[in-house]
Amino acid sequence: MVHMNKRDMILITVIVLLAALSYILLHHGDGDNVVSVYVKGSLHGTYDLSVPRQIHIVGDNGIINDIEISDGSVFMKYSDCPGQQCVNTGRIDRNNESICCAPAGTLITVHTAKEPDYDAITK
Ligand SMILES: [Zn+2]
Repeated sequence: MVHMNKRDMILITVIVLLAALSYILLHHGDGDNVVSVYVKGSLHGTYDLSVPRQIHIVGDNGIINDIEISDGSVFMKYSDCPGQQCVNTGRIDRNNESICCAPAGTLITVHTAKEPDYDAITK
């Protein structure tokens, strides 16, 4: 039976926290397979790319963005913005690829280990 005093408890807590932190740091980036959706500069949500989902957003100027996640990729299914650039971007599924709907203030960014070239930041 090991007798633990308060200092030991603090030490154990610190070790556990450090272990948790290093786990998060080690697995950050290469284990991710998510899409982050930003609306008007703030995070609307982060979604698993492997889970099919529809995301309905009403952005700036009342512009509607319908985002769809399916088949491990994400695309702008519908937007009533004037340029339709976001819709025309098509499907994205590689790290740091993004879809931007400037009139609505929507930014969709993929975070995944799937990279065509590790050092390249595309688009
Ligand atoms: Zn758009």
